[in-house]
Amino acid sequence: MSDCIFCRIVSGDIPAREAGSSDEALAFHDLNPQAPVHVLVIPREHFGGANDVGPTDSERVWPALFDLATAVAQELGLADSGYRLVVNSGTDGGQSVGHLHLHVLGGRRLAWPPG
Ligand code: 5GP
Ligand code: ZN
Repeated sequence: MSDCIFCRIVSGDIPAREAGSSDEALAFHDLNPQAPVHVLVIPREHFGGANDVGPTDSERVWPALFDLATAVAQELGLADSGYRLVVNSGTDGGQSVGHLHLHVLGGRRLAWPPG
């Protein structure tokens, strides 16, 4: 989708600081980090959000996101100290970009529950 920011990052149209990559997914540092490490992991294919990954795609898309997220967490030194994986979905979930993405947050103690 040419009007989607994250599709444009996948295509290289918009630059991003890459943190990892696989056949199905791309990881890059968030522009407005909420923690010392804040990486977004996205599918290369456009899905609007969690609700848009139907049964046909779920076995391919979700493992790709979680596999790359955990690899990036390991690579960036978060595996022992801990980290959080978050998918904001829809208005109440706080989703602001309409291309599915997994947040990897770490490097500080994170509050729970979220506000
Ligand atoms: P959401 O609020 O949808 O869960 O998360 C969207 C995230 O994308 C936000 O944390 C925001 O800072 C990040 N973001 C929005 N536009 C860009 C961009 O152009 N580049 C990067 N690297 N991050 C972005
Ligand atoms: Zn997109």
